[in-house]
Amino acid sequence: MSIDIEKIVAEALENGFDFATTLDISTMNPLPEVRDMCAADKCHAYNKNWSCPPACGTVEECAAEIKTYETGVIVQSTIELEDEFDFEGIAELGKRHGETSVRFNKFLHEKYPDAKILGLTAGGCNQCKKCTYPDEPCRFPDRMMHPLEGYGIFVSDLCTKNDIPYNRGKGTLTYVGAFLLA
Ligand code: SF4
Repeated sequence: MSIDIEKIVAEALENGFDFATTLDISTMNPLPEVRDMCAADKCHAYNKNWSCPPACGTVEECAAEIKTYETGVIVQSTIELEDEFDFEGIAELGKRHGETSVRFNKFLHEKYPDAKILGLTAGGCNQCKKCTYPDEPCRFPDRMMHPLEGYGIFVSDLCTKNDIPYNRGKGTLTYVGAFLLA
């Protein structure tokens, strides 16, 4: 299908992201080193969700899947923290970025039913209150969103290669996502 990516950038902003721009798919370069950080389980999501490693496939499989997409948008949610111990602010940003990602992912699937869409965001898929992993199949496999890091993407590098800041200033925190389309 023909994709008007500038229109989709505008729709990402309308759906609540603070920043959105076109994503150059060739900058999506999955790295085993990033995936290794998932295996260290610092985020406590490893092996707990269909969207996260190891269930989301090998780095090579993720790289091969990314290559099947033509275009995309990179999105950000940013907050100004009161100080470096503003854990409430950090949690609030995580919740807002997660909810915006779910809303935009749903919007894209409903508005562009003929498109192939891959949502990559911060953290594991949060579309269900509790993921069915590993006892039952995923409830919405076609709408599952994966963590960028789980796909081996070095997020700050991805921002740099797409000419946008990852750090939006002292005292701020930014979460990133990407939505790929074909
Ligand atoms: S859609 Fe639900 S079951 Fe599937 S990965 Fe996401 S949270 Fe888990």
